[in-house]
Amino acid sequence: MKVTLTNTTKKLCVIGDPVLHSKSPLIQNAMISAFGLDYIYLCQPVPKGRVGEWLKAASVAGYAGFNATMPHKEELVGWMDSLDPLAEKCGAVNTVCIKNGEYYGFNTDGPGFLRALTELTGEGWGKRVLLLGAGGAAKAVGLALANSNNLVTVCNRSVTKSEALCDLDPDRMTPAGFSPGELKRLAEECDVLVNCTPLGMEGTGSEFEDLRFLEALPAGAAVCDLIYAPAETALLRRAKELGHPAMNGMGMLLHQAILALEHFTGRSLEVEKAKDAALKALGENE
Ligand code: NAP
Repeated sequence: MKVTLTNTTKKLCVIGDPVLHSKSPLIQNAMISAFGLDYIYLCQPVPKGRVGEWLKAASVAGYAGFNATMPHKEELVGWMDSLDPLAEKCGAVNTVCIKNGEYYGFNTDGPGFLRALTELTGEGWGKRVLLLGAGGAAKAVGLALANSNNLVTVCNRSVTKSEALCDLDPDRMTPAGFSPGELKRLAEECDVLVNCTPLGMEGTGSEFEDLRFLEALPAGAAVCDLIYAPAETALLRRAKELGHPAMNGMGMLLHQAILALEHFTGRSLEVEKAKDAALKALGENE
């Protein structure tokens, strides 16, 4: 991958604490290179609590925008001059465009998941969705699904957290618990199941204790895991054995990045070309 720098090259980056593990520079520079855009995407550590200083510095330094990961997504909300409706509802910003000294905040996580789901199922609306987890990712994905006219049941270990999430869209979201019995009962009436917990993620050592709820899914129900390392979790393996269409979190990761680059550049990008470039760079980096 080669990014050509000129004196007018526009700067982008990802901020976080920690952030050096981020795949965003690799993915974004691969897409920038594939489309011949005059941008470069860097990795910028910003300590927790210092987002205000970073925003001023980024504006003075002429950054066109940046992505944000933990722990800045929530804090950024209060600093934005304008917020897209999903970022506002979610209370989290992962993409900031800087124009004429003003900050425009977006959340591309939920829309990124919806694009990936649409690739898997043909459409991403009018479904009964079982969402496992009520953390940051579940919030972004759940609210985007509800916003697209899906009915979402949020199952979480701490029910107070699923209740708080569902209060943000009570007409289309219903809280529930996480016991094997409850998951089995709810799985019987769902079209899409989405794992937004870290259960099964590489390096966590945590796994679902019981995957028998998958056996209760109606035929053809889609199973999605936001995890992409490993590429196939035990949940996805079992879902595929049972004949369900299944996808990991790579589609969401790529689509949220494509959407972010579209916001930064103000142009729509050819999705397959963007995905191919990013996947090639990720593969070469392994
Ligand atoms: P988070 O804010 O920490 O939330 C984690 C959620 O999982 C919480 O609801 C938590 O329940 C639940 N949970 C954790 N351990 C559990 C266990 N042992 N049993 C049952 N529930 C458990 O994390 P997050 O940022 O939402 O991330 C969640 C997952 O999504 C991670 O695997 C992350 O890598 C993935 N992700 C993927 C993408 C992508 O682009 N593909 C983007 C973002 C995140 P409690 O509330 O009860 O603690």
